[in-house]
Amino acid sequence: METLWPLALSLAGLVAAGPPNFVVIFADDLGYGDLGAYGHPSSRTPNLDQLAAAGLRFTDFYVPMSLCTPSRAALLTGRLPVRTGMYPGVLKPGSKGGLPLEEVTLAEVLEARGYLTGMAGKWHLGVGPGGVFLPPHQGFHRFLGIPYSHDQGPCQNLTCFPPNIPCEGHCDQGLVPIPLLANLSVEAQPPWLPGLEARYVAFARDLMADAKSQDRPFFLYYASHHTHYPQFSGESFTGRSGRGPFGDSLMELDAAVGALMATIKDLGLLRETLVIFTSDNGPETMRMFRGGCSGLLRCGKGTTYEGGVREPALAFWPGHITPGVTHELASSLDLLPTLAALAEAPLPNVTLDGFDLSPVLLGTGKSPRQSVFFHPVNPNEIYGVFAVRNGKYKAHFYTQGSALSDTTADPACHITSPLTIHEPPLLFDLSVDPGENYDLLGGMTQVSQEVLQALKELQVLKAHFDAEVTFGPSQMALGEDPALQVCCQPACKPWPGCCSCPDQELGSKNKSPSQA
Ligand code: MG
Repeated sequence: METLWPLALSLAGLVAAGPPNFVVIFADDLGYGDLGAYGHPSSRTPNLDQLAAAGLRFTDFYVPMSLCTPSRAALLTGRLPVRTGMYPGVLKPGSKGGLPLEEVTLAEVLEARGYLTGMAGKWHLGVGPGGVFLPPHQGFHRFLGIPYSHDQGPCQNLTCFPPNIPCEGHCDQGLVPIPLLANLSVEAQPPWLPGLEARYVAFARDLMADAKSQDRPFFLYYASHHTHYPQFSGESFTGRSGRGPFGDSLMELDAAVGALMATIKDLGLLRETLVIFTSDNGPETMRMFRGGCSGLLRCGKGTTYEGGVREPALAFWPGHITPGVTHELASSLDLLPTLAALAEAPLPNVTLDGFDLSPVLLGTGKSPRQSVFFHPVNPNEIYGVFAVRNGKYKAHFYTQGSALSDTTADPACHITSPLTIHEPPLLFDLSVDPGENYDLLGGMTQVSQEVLQALKELQVLKAHFDAEVTFGPSQMALGEDPALQVCCQPACKPWPGCCSCPDQELGSKNKSPSQA
């Protein structure tokens, strides 16, 4: 049994003053059913389970789009990915576009309020010419991380799982090896993956300690590469989880959460620090047992079914958040308005798609959010949103399978399931059927007046929403320029393989978060 971070509060923590610190931990491709606290029978996630037990566990927390780039943009801006141009699909290492600099990120909101801001992990909101879209230009004082997914480069020579054997699969070929950036400089290309999480934890510790010594609040955005494919983990976790490579990666992420919590506790800041944990999208089931699990929900990544868009979510803030479970509707879009409210920071003067959820967190009221809207990963203005949830009802006006959700038992999830228009829509009552198995309009039972009313409301909501939402110009449509890929030795040959810089810290990084 792991040693968990103790919950005992320091006396210093009893006197709250000034805006709270924020730690937002964002997992990658982690499904609704992957944590012990969400019912997975063999995951080992004691630290996250403790956050769940001593904090608020959300059962109905959503992302607006079930893919990395758009989901990350939504979290950091409080705006739909279609508004910010973060569609279709994801940004590539040589993409010309990125999160437009005129977008106001959560880091920029908090930086203006005096916060020390830092980000560790996966960015995936663009690099661009001269790194113009990277975190240091988007409100983060400090950045240590990889600018996109770690499979967006040749991974056959990377160290993955178990330590010292190559990663499974070949990932994306013809690209530079993945770079680890420290602010705007290449720290290693490629980094040694089994030591990566420990590096991020060390970065996070320094950030929090420095903020404390400077007597200012901090915002840490900790966007781990776990549990995205290909799976890797430090030596302390390899083969230890009982759930194979995916479980080992998750176990390392969980230990990192424990290390962050221990740091917050050691700094005497437990009562001054709101910690939020969630995931960017549902599981990549095409990886089979090397991918995640959406539990009782239908399908996974790349779809607008519940398994793609409903995520585990935890909020922990002793003395402020009463431990429990909430069934209130919530979205990653709500983070920016919520944290801005708690920090008493002014909201950006733009159309926001999120709500202030502080009444839900603090137990003073219900969620102002009554509905959630889901665009597909390749949206357009003609179809608009594919699905809408309002209260307990969810309607699918369109459905489409995704290769990312292949291999599950349900063919509706697969790439072979084409774009289908549903007229009338598929209609589910998620309070009795969270797995979206029984279409209320499918002729199985008599349709009640309540169901007809719910259908009408959902149709009106979709029509109004689609009419109101203006798509920003697609940043992905700007295309790619291979020369924009980050290379530690610019203009070297033979490119891109020559973009290789030894990992100087490799020898000293052979340790796990729990040992660091
Ligand atoms: Mg993802």
